[in-house]
Amino acid sequence: MTHRKATGIRKPRRKPRLAKVFNCLMCERNDVVRVEMRRKKKMIGGKKRTVKEGTGKLECSSCHAKFQHPIGHLSAEVDVFSAWVDALDAKKEANDAAVATSTTTGN
Ligand SMILES: [Zn+2]
Repeated sequence: MTHRKATGIRKPRRKPRLAKVFNCLMCERNDVVRVEMRRKKKMIGGKKRTVKEGTGKLECSSCHAKFQHPIGHLSAEVDVFSAWVDALDAKKEANDAAVATSTTTGN
């Protein structure tokens, strides 16, 4: 009988870093926006399991712009980022509309 020594099996369990970097739309710097995907954890059958839904959080390390977006099981970091782009676009459009109406009324 031989005793096999378990070598190299125990690795420090590090969480894989899911954060990815994007360019900031607010301060226009590159690779400053980080997205963090937070999936909820649930106890199912006495075991802790990660459910697929959660929140994607985005933050610029330069100008500290922040954004949050609900994520589903197919969501990736880039989806949170594009949701931010959409949100800013919508905001901009609303602003443009407001400016347009205020300038036309000043006649
Ligand atoms: Zn920024």
